[in-house]
Amino acid sequence: MKKYIFVTGGVCSSLGKGVTATSIGNLLENRGLGIRMIKIDPYLNVDAGTMSPYQHGEVYVTDDGTEADLDLGNYARFTKAPLSRLNSITTGQIYQEVIKKEREGQYLGRTVQVIPHITDEIKKRIFLASDGEDVDVTIIEVGGTVGDIESIPFLEAARQFIHDLGKENVLFVHLTLIPEVAGGELKTKPTQHSVNKLREIGIQPDILVCRSPEFLEKEMISKISLFTNVEENSIISAYDVKTSVYEIPLIFHAQNLDNIILDKLKLSGSKCNLKEWSDIVEVLKTADKTTNIGIVGKYINLNDSYKSIYESVYHGGIANNTKINFIKIDAEELDKTEDIKSIFKNIDGILIPGGFGQRGINGMVKAAQFARENTIPYFGICLGMQIMVIEYARNILGLKSANSTEFAPETKDPVISLLEEQKGLRNMGGTMRLGKSKSILVPGTLIHKAYGKTEIWERHRHRYEVSSDYIEELKKSGMIIGGYTQNNNLVESVEWSNHPWSIGVQFHPEFKSTPVNPHPLFIDFVEASISYASN
Ligand code: GLN
Repeated sequence: MKKYIFVTGGVCSSLGKGVTATSIGNLLENRGLGIRMIKIDPYLNVDAGTMSPYQHGEVYVTDDGTEADLDLGNYARFTKAPLSRLNSITTGQIYQEVIKKEREGQYLGRTVQVIPHITDEIKKRIFLASDGEDVDVTIIEVGGTVGDIESIPFLEAARQFIHDLGKENVLFVHLTLIPEVAGGELKTKPTQHSVNKLREIGIQPDILVCRSPEFLEKEMISKISLFTNVEENSIISAYDVKTSVYEIPLIFHAQNLDNIILDKLKLSGSKCNLKEWSDIVEVLKTADKTTNIGIVGKYINLNDSYKSIYESVYHGGIANNTKINFIKIDAEELDKTEDIKSIFKNIDGILIPGGFGQRGINGMVKAAQFARENTIPYFGICLGMQIMVIEYARNILGLKSANSTEFAPETKDPVISLLEEQKGLRNMGGTMRLGKSKSILVPGTLIHKAYGKTEIWERHRHRYEVSSDYIEELKKSGMIIGGYTQNNNLVESVEWSNHPWSIGVQFHPEFKSTPVNPHPLFIDFVEASISYASN
């Protein structure tokens, strides 16, 4: 019998439900179980594709081109569970499907209601994602906070799992906050209230994961247990870790969480071996050097906007035994500064991540020029690669108005533009190059060296391309094309000649990097930044 673990959250948002869910996945995988991860987002958007990175953080892209919540990135970094459109469920998708069926007459004239039609559709989607012989446990993270109107249909569907499958096959893990009030006292009341909220809808949590500044003392755990009816050994202290979220599986294991889950679900697992994982944390803690990486972008103020980028640079740091210090530079501000030199004074490597829209573009072009002229390692991802081409065309080819038609539709020199067949298409979503595709790398280039092979598969999420009209000219004047798409020779990667390390890629390598398997481009970028620093 397949098992299901629902992870809910109480008290407030941003407590780390995604990291909790994926750390449980990590431990269960470690015990030899086959897992799947699902994120439920209780908003009406059909997917995260149109959501602002400012409000919602990064949009994570899977191989099949699904634009999903950034928690899928957490799943990808902590577990080996495959991710596709099946693993991201939103209220919008569920209602869209139910309404479609209603229009097609599939409900045979019955009144269509939240219970059972919406809840049945939710259950169907969960079963679909947990299909497959290799799947033992499916972990479902229910977004939002218990008590929100939006999540009620999902929690009701979750409650029905116990009714449908039996208690021994379903587990509820509830994440709450134990805040510290003035005087340093820890308070359990918000936890009691949020557990009550869950009970009101018929769900008794089996395990509580309590976020708190410090490890919870025995006395505190007894009190929480008394008020919530959760066994003392099943109250896990998710105290604030000092170094990295990658410590979480370790601190959960130290509190026996994997055994508790196996016991409750009547599963047996292999021995736990967290050596690889604790080695990673060890490097993060003890590396004796620090590399300063400048990120120039327009969503600098919200850490989550470039989540996978930051994580991937950390992974590159782990591979090179260095700590990473990020210097976050607002591209718009950079455009206004005269003294660009002082901003980049202590920076060992510059990374320009992906982005949409005109704001901050000139600041990014300035950063690219500075990196090129001062031989600072430069890594451009998607928009960051387009910026490299725009800068080169302006300053080396002398095409002063070189631009992308995304930012200047009427420009004389559209070095980045839509493909002929995309022009005139009105539906924005339809024109986007999304998901996994094959690129062919050019031997002798830095990118080829990084991958050590010619054929690569990476994920895309962009609309504009390097215009074929300018490729010859760019090449003649010293821009190196490092890779092309397999089918139609679109530019996938560029480099500057006479520069120690510069790579721009049209795809998103950050979605495939993990702490255990750092992505080669991030490894080489950090390595180049270390050698730049030591010169
Ligand atoms: N805005 C650019 C495009 O659509 C780059 C997209 C990105 O960086 N993800 O092509």
